[in-house]
Amino acid sequence: MKRRIKIGLDFDGVVAYNPFRVARPIVAFVKSKLFGVKKLKFWYPQKRWQQIFWVIIHESSIFPANGVELLKKLVREEKIEAHLITARYSFLDNHLYNWLDKYKIRKLFKTINMNKQDEQPHLFKEKLIDRYKLDYYIEDNLDIVKHLVQKNKKNIYWIYNLLDRSYPYPKKYPYLQKALIDIQKSIDLR
Ligand SMILES: [Mg+2]
Repeated sequence: MKRRIKIGLDFDGVVAYNPFRVARPIVAFVKSKLFGVKKLKFWYPQKRWQQIFWVIIHESSIFPANGVELLKKLVREEKIEAHLITARYSFLDNHLYNWLDKYKIRKLFKTINMNKQDEQPHLFKEKLIDRYKLDYYIEDNLDIVKHLVQKNKKNIYWIYNLLDRSYPYPKKYPYLQKALIDIQKSIDLR
């Protein structure tokens, strides 16, 4: 029997469609141009009101992305095993499980990995790609994609958004379905 292909998926912006994710390039622009921040560091909401605001933003990630049905099919046919990797901060744990249960996709994932220690998202994801020896990883945050590529991670598939779509990258897709179709093709070629 062929070895099952291991695919890692980010949650926000990949498995769940989140209309707020267009904000990333604006935040990155402001940080680098106005504040001169060059190093990749993500903001952590410290205060209670900031955490509540953060929850509201993430609660808007309410729709399963276009491609979740294909993901189900690939898992059902035992072509792949799917690992959910989210760097959501720990105060969002219950929201994630509620969402997965609401759409009955919790069991789709062989593992569900949350950022319990509130590590920096790019470092957390890098660590888990290594831990599970993932063959593919799908991510929507361009800063994280760049970081992983720089660390020589293979098969990093990027889901772009309206504002950073012009960034040249060979494996870029508008949404999950397109990325999975491409992965499916490369699996069939093996
Ligand atoms: Mg994301």
